[in-house]
Amino acid sequence: MLAARLTESGKYRVALLEAGGEDDNFWIHAPLGYGKLYDNPKYNWLYNGESEPQLTSHKSYQPRGKVLGGTGSINGMIYMRGAPEDFDHWRQLGNTGWSYDDVLPYFRKGEDNERGANEYHGAGGPLRVSNTPKHPLSDAFIKAGVEAGYPASDDFNGPTLDGFTYNQVNIRNGRRASTAVEYLRPRANARIWR
Ligand SMILES: Cc1cc2nc3c(=O)[nH]c(=O)nc-3n(C[C@H](O)[C@H](O)[C@H](O)COP(=O)(O)OP(=O)(O)OC[C@H]3O[C@@H](n4cnc5c(N)ncnc54)[C@H](O)[C@@H]3O)c2cc1C
Repeated sequence: MLAARLTESGKYRVALLEAGGEDDNFWIHAPLGYGKLYDNPKYNWLYNGESEPQLTSHKSYQPRGKVLGGTGSINGMIYMRGAPEDFDHWRQLGNTGWSYDDVLPYFRKGEDNERGANEYHGAGGPLRVSNTPKHPLSDAFIKAGVEAGYPASDDFNGPTLDGFTYNQVNIRNGRRASTAVEYLRPRANARIWR
């Protein structure tokens, strides 16, 4: 994303160094294919955490993308921003420019949201954000959450993360909308070294 933004003026040529290879595997682009990449050393660093004494010394598996687009080429595609109060906390700690109000314009600028633009979302940007299909079981799960006393929501990326609703995803026309596909591919002056 940063490499693509740096090339936007057309004045600069940007070299992007990527340790992995091309995002040319069919399962990267088929949304439910990420299960097929979960243990594939060609596209995944296959990290493990340190042994955890509280977990009977178990080491937890930490997959990370080793491919153009990084972990965004093998992840679950859920479009989920950080919590507004976390950004505001960073600002309160002295990080000028990192309050939620400061970063929100950039979230909106990046977005091509199926629901269109509003105070929290953008349309016409590079990164597709689309609705997930409804399903009776998901409807029942959301209803159960609300019946149990949790708030209903219509947007996890609105004023608060809390609540029960459907998430949105980075999928365009049935294919994974990774940063490599959405930001990098359209840039002629970004050269990629692998
Ligand atoms: C299984 C899984 C599911 C996830 N699901 C979601 C989700 O649904 N929604 C969500 O928002 N987040 C999800 N995440 C988290 C999200 O994908 C990551 O937080 C995000 O991709 C991290 O971005 P990054 O740019 O920091 O690093 P990465 O995307 O990991 O990119 C790092 C890149 O640097 C490359 N690299 C590493 N070392 C070198 C080197 N020495 N030289 C050159 N290149 C190098 C790597 O190969 C990689 O391409 C998920 C993560 C995992 C593992």
